[in-house]
Amino acid sequence: PLTTADLIEEHRICVCVRKRPLNKKSELSMKDLDVITIPSKDVVMVHEPKQKVDLTRYLENQTFRFDYAFDDSTTNEMVYRFTARPLVETIFERGMATCFAYGQTGSGKTHTMGGDFSGKKQDCSKGIYALAARDVFLMLKKPSYKKLDLQVYAAFFEIYSGKVFDLLNRKAKLRVLEDGKQQVQVVGLQEKEVKCTEDVLKLIEVGNSCRTSGQTSANAHSSRSHAVFQIILRRKGKMHGKFSLIDLAGNERGADTSSADRQTRLEGAEINKSLLALKECIRALGRNKPHTPFRASKLTQVLRDSFIGENSHTCMIATIAPGMTSCETTLNTLRYANSEL
Ligand code: ADP
Ligand code: MG
Repeated sequence: PLTTADLIEEHRICVCVRKRPLNKKSELSMKDLDVITIPSKDVVMVHEPKQKVDLTRYLENQTFRFDYAFDDSTTNEMVYRFTARPLVETIFERGMATCFAYGQTGSGKTHTMGGDFSGKKQDCSKGIYALAARDVFLMLKKPSYKKLDLQVYAAFFEIYSGKVFDLLNRKAKLRVLEDGKQQVQVVGLQEKEVKCTEDVLKLIEVGNSCRTSGQTSANAHSSRSHAVFQIILRRKGKMHGKFSLIDLAGNERGADTSSADRQTRLEGAEINKSLLALKECIRALGRNKPHTPFRASKLTQVLRDSFIGENSHTCMIATIAPGMTSCETTLNTLRYANSEL
C-alpha cells in the first residue's frame, strides 16, 4: 500500500479532509443535523441528513475523494501521523515543508494545529505544532542527524489584512523585503532557540495569547488572520530546513465582501485574495511549474521559499463542520481542496 511519504514523493502535495463532531453547545442544542459521512479512508460524502426532517432546501448527494479523509473520531495524533509527520523528515533532508489548515471559522483549524484553546485550561501539547516539535527533537537524537550538530529555532507570526505581526515580540509590526536575489525576508522576525518540546510549548502559549489579546472576541480576530508557526533547523548559522505550520483565516469571508462596513469588506477581499493565491502557488508546486505567482498576496510572498526548490513538500488539512447549517461553506471548502491542487 502507498504511504503518505510515497504520495508526497510523487506529487509533493497531500490533501486531506478532517470532519469534526457536532458540538454540544451550539449545534446539538440548535438541533443541527449531520450531513457528512466518511465511508472510507479517502472519501467524503455530503448528503441529506439521515433523520427525516422538513428540509428548507434540497441537498444533492456529492462525493469527493482526497489523499485522506478523517472522520470525527480521529485524534490529532492520527491526523498528524498521516499529514505533517512525513514532512518532519523533509526538513532534516534540507527541505522546506508546509502544512496548512484550511476551512471555515469553527471547523477545527486551531484545534488541529494549535491544540485546545477553547476552555479555561489551554492545552497546546496535542496540536500539530507541538507534535511536530516533539518529533523534531526525537529525530535530532538519531546518530545520522546528531552528527550534523543542528540547532532548532521557532518563530510565530500573524498576517492580518496584508500586514505581518510578530507573535513572539508583542505583536511588533514587521516589514517584508525582497532582495535582488528574490529572497524574501521578514525583517526583524524573532527566532527563538528551543532545546526541547517544553520550550516550544511555552512559545506556542506566548504567541497564542498575543494573537488574541486586546480583541473583543478572540475568535472574531483569529478568524480574520493567518497564523504561521515555524520550526527552523540551522547548521553553523545557515538554514538547513524549515517547517511552516499555518492556521489560515476562515474561508467564509467571501460573504463579507458585501458587508456595509468598509474595514470588514477590505479584510474579506484580502482573505479571498490570499486563499486564491495560495491555491495557485500550491498548484504550481504540484505541477513543477517554473512560475509561481507568489507575489499575489502577503501570505504567499512570505512563504515564497516554501513553494520553490526541488525539496519542497506541502500538505493541506481541510477542516469541515458536520452540520447542515454549514453545508454551503463546507461544499466550498471541499471544492477548494479538491480542485486538483
Ligand atoms: P477554527 O480554528 O477553525 O475557527 P476551532 O479549532 O476553534 O475552529 O474549533 C471550534 C470548536 O470546535 C472548538 O470549541 C474546538 O474545541 C471544537 N473542535 C474542533 N475540532 C474538534 C475535534 N476534532 N474534536 C472535538 N472538538 C473539536
Ligand atoms: Mg481558529
